[in-house]
Amino acid sequence: MEFIRECAGWFYLIGAILFILTLRGLSSPKTAIRGNTYGMVAMAIAVVTTFFVVDHVVVWLILVPMVLGAIVGISRARTVPMTQMPETVALMHSLVGLSAVLIAVAAILHNNHLVALFSENADVLKHAGIEESHMSKVHFFELFVGCFVGAITFTASLFAYGKLAAKKWAKTISGGWVKPLQAILFIVMLGCGAYFFTSGNMTAFWLMTVFALAFGWVWIAPVGGGDMPVVVSLLNSFSGWAAAGIGFTLENNMLIVAGSLVGSSGAILSYIMCKAMNRSIINVLFGGAMTSGAAAATQGAQVERNHRSGSADDAGFLMSNADSVVIVPGYGMAQGRAQNAVKELSIVLKEQGVKVRFAIHPVAGRMPGHMNVLLAEADVPYEDILEMDEINSDFPATDVVLVIGANDVVNPAAKDNPNSPIYGMPILEAYKARTIMVIKRSMATGYAGLDNDLFYDEKTMMIFGDAKKVVEDMTKSVNGSGH
Ligand code: NDP
Repeated sequence: MEFIRECAGWFYLIGAILFILTLRGLSSPKTAIRGNTYGMVAMAIAVVTTFFVVDHVVVWLILVPMVLGAIVGISRARTVPMTQMPETVALMHSLVGLSAVLIAVAAILHNNHLVALFSENADVLKHAGIEESHMSKVHFFELFVGCFVGAITFTASLFAYGKLAAKKWAKTISGGWVKPLQAILFIVMLGCGAYFFTSGNMTAFWLMTVFALAFGWVWIAPVGGGDMPVVVSLLNSFSGWAAAGIGFTLENNMLIVAGSLVGSSGAILSYIMCKAMNRSIINVLFGGAMTSGAAAATQGAQVERNHRSGSADDAGFLMSNADSVVIVPGYGMAQGRAQNAVKELSIVLKEQGVKVRFAIHPVAGRMPGHMNVLLAEADVPYEDILEMDEINSDFPATDVVLVIGANDVVNPAAKDNPNSPIYGMPILEAYKARTIMVIKRSMATGYAGLDNDLFYDEKTMMIFGDAKKVVEDMTKSVNGSGH
């Protein structure tokens, strides 16, 4: 035990290095499992070491919630469908925010308790060798920042969870009053925090916390569903910074390092997602919603248009005679749990000598990396999976593009309609291929609520039905037409 205490710095250093290797591992599907393992080992080292370095640990007070949390976490992880991952992540972030608030409150109450104890029993305590331990101004500042960032993260993440899970209480708000209200809450929150910082006044601290909780909600409630993933990633970043702030207060280097890694990686991911959606982070957070409603308004004068439809048999025949096929998966593949059927189709096509590749858009599906995770689950070889930048130049020379439950990520309006809400968003340029086949259940719009010109293109064949069933029928057809 004494050994662990003495070497705690080294253990924390090993943990920090493993956390960095975790992020490196998670940057590629090939190394993601290894990255996750590093993360688990790093977390175990961090928790066990902390047990030994903290004085006066009441072990059962820590172990009981840890075991209960692990039971809830494991059962949730085993049962949550991939499609509900974004809202689960948002819910987790809300707990990180709440922890930051509770730790800040506990640290301040503990300090006040010490101060009171000293004012009453200074002689006795000093005689017993216990020195007064007032918190410095720096500590007050860390707690003030950690607490309000945590409080904002808590309610904002809770709202993001409600929004993504389509809960009735998570209603998007709009109107001219929203921005002034946001500004007032923010200023009052900072004012109370500043007063607490200078005077140590506890009423100001409680008020700051309440205003921060209210601000988190009012800040995120106007953001539209389409922008929610960016918000979740940004809140992830906030939860990291809140943890890092609290790490300074608790003088725990591991928490500072882990919090900073989460904070910076979340910020970088938000930036990458904004780039993929052609939005600025300021526009996402304060520019109003890219909602279905907004999109519908731009399409007010929509007219009936003709599209061409065909059967899975026709599609199977065409693909088995193609030289190259690019599969573009989207949210519908996840929704229909079609990834294994898609892998089977790719295998039978390859057996017929067709070159098959997968094209992945950074925001396809409902969470970053959604399609990569599903294709990895189905054991699709990594070398067949190409990112948008790698595949876009190949579309003009591609015989068949098979779009499976994707819509917004192949919508040409993003390129050629300046009035479209998604204008400027980079897309998979499927429309440039010689033939396009689209599997979906109807002509309904996707997440952004926008009609898609690709579906009416004369080169496009719509194949209506559930993704899994249609792909299975296609596989039978390709097998049947074997030559
Ligand atoms: P879309 O939401 O644009 O389109 C999905 C399409 O799948 C729908 O048009 C739907 O049409 C079809 N579909 C649904 N279920 C099935 C099924 N069982 N079988 C066949 N088709 C089905 O998805 P994309 O992947 O193209 O784009 C993602 C969108 O989500 C973007 O707007 C992105 O900004 C947003 N977003 C992205 C997140 C991320 O981090 N990746 C997170 C949250 C939102 P039909 O009903 O007719 O079948």
